[in-house]
Amino acid sequence: MTHIITSLCIRDEGCMSVCPVDCIVPGKPLDEWPLMYIDPEVCIDCGACIPECPYEAIFMEDEVPAEYEAFGGEYINRLEFDGHYEGENMYGEEVVLDTVKELEEGEVVDLTKDIQSNYDFFEKGPGYEALD
Ligand code: SF4
Ligand code: SF4
Repeated sequence: MTHIITSLCIRDEGCMSVCPVDCIVPGKPLDEWPLMYIDPEVCIDCGACIPECPYEAIFMEDEVPAEYEAFGGEYINRLEFDGHYEGENMYGEEVVLDTVKELEEGEVVDLTKDIQSNYDFFEKGPGYEALD
């Protein structure tokens, strides 16, 4: 079991500093790995990151919703989308994403798709090397 950051993440980095085992890393390069990712081999399922996320993007792996119903106005951040987002992370640094879509009220999204990509980031992708 691990916790999973879903594509509701828009990289504000609020969760990184609270993780007691430092297993939350930013995906890089951004145009291939647009989310933050949790190393499933290191996560101790303490749950500390969940309340830190202002976008409610983090779930226990077995609680990731297959039918997430949007309240409207939140962003989904996936490679398949080409919408533009500009904001700031919690440190006041600029965040620019070109892989987003703004969700409409009542729109239903399967967030379980994000589980495998989290594993892929560490097993097949750059994993911690992305921090370099
Ligand atoms: S559940 Fe705990 S250990 Fe796992 S990523 Fe979140 S803060 Fe880190
Ligand atoms: S706090 Fe939420 S939005 Fe911010 S980086 Fe973590 S998962 Fe992404």
